Amino acid sequence: MQKFLTDMHTHSTFSHDGRDELSVMLAAAQKAGMAFYGVSDHFDFDYDLFQMSEEELAQIKNADPEVYFHGARHLQEDYEGVMNVCVGAEFGYSDKAEVKARYQKIYDKYRPDFVINSVHGGDGKDFARYIFTEDKKSTYRSYLGLIRRSLDVEYPYDVVGHIGYIARYVPYEDKRLSLAEFGEEIDDILKTIIQKGKILEVNSANKGLQNRTLPAEEIVQRYYDLGGRKVSFGSDAHFKERIADKREEVVEMLKKIGFTHLTVPFRGEHIAVLL
Ligand SMILES: [Zn+2]
Ligand SMILES: [Zn+2]
Repeated sequence: MQKFLTDMHTHSTFSHDGRDELSVMLAAAQKAGMAFYGVSDHFDFDYDLFQMSEEELAQIKNADPEVYFHGARHLQEDYEGVMNVCVGAEFGYSDKAEVKARYQKIYDKYRPDFVINSVHGGDGKDFARYIFTEDKKSTYRSYLGLIRRSLDVEYPYDVVGHIGYIARYVPYEDKRLSLAEFGEEIDDILKTIIQKGKILEVNSANKGLQNRTLPAEEIVQRYYDLGGRKVSFGSDAHFKERIADKREEVVEMLKKIGFTHLTVPFRGEHIAVLL
């Protein structure tokens, strides 16, 4: 096992919220010494199909799969032998069968090198546009229920993205998704990730959060205690300055917990990289 720099969750202007073009992101990643660089632009078909006005849709524009995969594969070739560019996708989970079928279609047609399975909202709405009730318990329980169901999707995925993401948008004073409050639901999710052989993402984008990472350290610790050993690092960078942001902090945290390696998903293989 070798030590390499990795960042397996990043975006580019193929995503509605990406600020730098993929070529710019890749040049910055190479300059930073990345050995494995994962591009995971957004596909959130739930919003695309349901309940959104034209205006809202324009704001949550999905990557055009044809343009995205074509462009990213070209750049991947350009970097061959220099940096491992992993052309992936972040699929926003939805319970709706039509949405799942569309992800499956994208997967079959473009064969992304890896897939991040994330929950960004529910009922056809992004959490950023949600009106939350004052009941934290029931809000978080239904969020955790969505994550739990997302683990059972039929289309292939490798990584479970940013557990706890909802906390960025909720109005509660204590936004934390803690084991003390939701231990049972969290344990069920972590055990399922382990049992299915998936990778738990440790995401360093903590804007608006009361913990350093997503999921919080205590949840990553719990995953380890339950026997989970597959973790990936993702900055969730949407512009070049955030590539590998706080990676050292995350690595230190993981080492302290007992992890010895990160796991890089690539074309169905899970590559172990020394921490
Ligand atoms: Zn996401
Ligand atoms: Zn993302």
